[in-house]
Amino acid sequence: QQRNPNEAEFHQAVKEVFESLIPVLAKNPEYIEQSVLDRMVEPERMIIFRVPWVDDQGKTQVNRGFRVQFNSAIGPYKGGLRFHPSVNGSIVKFLGFEQIFKNSLTGQPIGGGKGGSDFDPKGKSDVEIMRFCQSFMAELSKHIGPYTDVPAGDIGVGAREIGYLFGEYKKIRGTFEAGVLTGKAIGYGGSLGRKEATGYGTVYFVDEMLKAQKESFDGSTVVVSGSGNVSIYAMEKATQLGAKVVACSDSSGYIYDENGIDIDLVKQLKEVESKRIHEYVETHPEAVFVANHADIWSVACDIALPCATQNEIDKEAAEQLVANGVKAVGEGANMPSTLDAIDVFLKNNVLFAPAKAANAGGVAVSALEMAQNSARLSWTFEEVDVKLQNIMRDIYQNSMEASVEYGAPGNLVVGANIAGFTKVADAMVSQGVI
Ligand code: NDP
Repeated sequence: QQRNPNEAEFHQAVKEVFESLIPVLAKNPEYIEQSVLDRMVEPERMIIFRVPWVDDQGKTQVNRGFRVQFNSAIGPYKGGLRFHPSVNGSIVKFLGFEQIFKNSLTGQPIGGGKGGSDFDPKGKSDVEIMRFCQSFMAELSKHIGPYTDVPAGDIGVGAREIGYLFGEYKKIRGTFEAGVLTGKAIGYGGSLGRKEATGYGTVYFVDEMLKAQKESFDGSTVVVSGSGNVSIYAMEKATQLGAKVVACSDSSGYIYDENGIDIDLVKQLKEVESKRIHEYVETHPEAVFVANHADIWSVACDIALPCATQNEIDKEAAEQLVANGVKAVGEGANMPSTLDAIDVFLKNNVLFAPAKAANAGGVAVSALEMAQNSARLSWTFEEVDVKLQNIMRDIYQNSMEASVEYGAPGNLVVGANIAGFTKVADAMVSQGVI
């Protein structure tokens, strides 16, 4: 904490991982002898840069850009770019740190990285977004490449932004290197199934957890926070598996629809028209809008899928979910539950799927996009979806086995941290002190 003051989110992420590793260190003294943990919390490199751009009024604006290249022990740095006014060094470092273990869990050869900017895309014109992306990439292009660092999307960065970023990278480099970014549109090297992968993957993971208890999504009531990329496809898959999703949100509030959320309408409002979630009630007057997004956790449900942002479920929200009978929680967002909230879930025997395992489907399919780009071929949606299901099943099984082996059977927080860590730690030991 002395070395990294004012980085509360980063400290939170490190604490959660390192507390899980105590039994691993007892069994593997070489990790301590070779200072693996000390090396792991120090990013290999962090780049902070100026992003100047001209708005539609002709005024020059300045934002701050970040890229943390955290760990390349098992592959090139890989992780998304977030454009949101809350982005700072602590947020980028917590996300990059988590990404190391998540990427390891996928079984794909990818290291950990993350980046973004405090740029706020809300209310910006399409041309302003393009100018910003071009300026951002003018600097970022010096540090990335298909074999060094492969960014993707995250909050505020979807296929449109990836397109502008890719176009600028191509112009600067003068070559078509499809594998430098993932989350591309299908027409120029994107993968079918990538858009759906994080949300679908989260539901596949929770489904594995439920099946082990002889339960399922079928007939259950589900609450999903957010209404962005991860939320929409988590809602879609949960509904396909027979659940009724009754609530979703954005940062201005949540909607409750007792008949089940009309997902096509949410897609139209959010993916096509960039509107706010309260507009839902204009088409569905029987639904209710509540102008407080945090209150979504007071809606009774069997399964809660937080898919918006970090620390959106605190201790009180977790207690409310438990009091209302929640059976399972699957983290589609990164670190959406505080450490106190996780404690509440585990102490009350709620099945808990931690983010780095549950939402790893997105980056896993990004790695499949890189593989298709390298081989210059495209798999069908069904091929990608089957691979995604197998990857999520493997992550569940490996995390469960690690939880048993290290004395915390069924605790997937511990299991996922250990399973993700050991592969990276062993690679670091093999590669010497670098
Ligand atoms: P989007 O930008 O598509 O959607 C984010 C959603 O969350 C929006 O509905 C947004 O509402 C809401 N939200 C964002 N910040 C806040 C906030 N501070 N308070 C309340 N609501 C908020 O992002 P994604 O769906 O891509 O990402 C969501 C989460 O999933 C993030 O934690 C991300 O790191 C994680 N994730 C994403 C992956 C991906 O493949 N996209 C992969 C793995 C994890 P509003 O529009 O009002 O801001």
